[in-house]
Amino acid sequence: MGIRDAAYPGSFDPITYGHVNIVKRASERFDKLYVVVVNNPNKKYLFSLQERIEMVKKDLEGIPNVIVESFDGLLVNYLKEKKIYNLIRGLRAVSDYEYELQMANANHMLFSQLEIFFLMADTDFSYISSSMIKEIASYNGDVSKWVSKFVESKLQEKLLKK
Ligand code: ADP
Repeated sequence: MGIRDAAYPGSFDPITYGHVNIVKRASERFDKLYVVVVNNPNKKYLFSLQERIEMVKKDLEGIPNVIVESFDGLLVNYLKEKKIYNLIRGLRAVSDYEYELQMANANHMLFSQLEIFFLMADTDFSYISSSMIKEIASYNGDVSKWVSKFVESKLQEKLLKK
């Protein structure tokens, strides 16, 4: 915990190279980066929380100041409890903006000391989303450009079982 720590929350269903890029960039600017795998009971995930955490940990191992955690309540409560005052989100296209603006305003109303930082997606990854990858993988398409070998194998395992 500390004023120079940040949290990067997300579903990570599954983690993609777009997420990894944001983590690498954010982790260089803060003392510690908490990557928070969120479990929202109202959302339907392809992977269980444990599976999502496993993939996130595997893909981010080796990035020194990254700590992977999970949370299943209101994000601001987690941030207040851990005394984390910086929140990172990634922006891919204009379509992300409306939702992120709404979330940012709500989070700021609930936790006024919170600062929210938006990192623009790297152009190489700006079109990648977890949902697109799941769709392509479900038709046996090649997703190796966008996710790690480990995630690719988990996707195959999960989607072949269905
Ligand atoms: P959530 O359900 O919270 O949107 P996601 O795992 O989809 O969870 O995304 C977590 C964060 O990462 C969001 O801020 C999202 O905009 C960002 N993000 C997702 N994919 C990319 C990408 N390819 N490049 C940059 N940021 C991304």
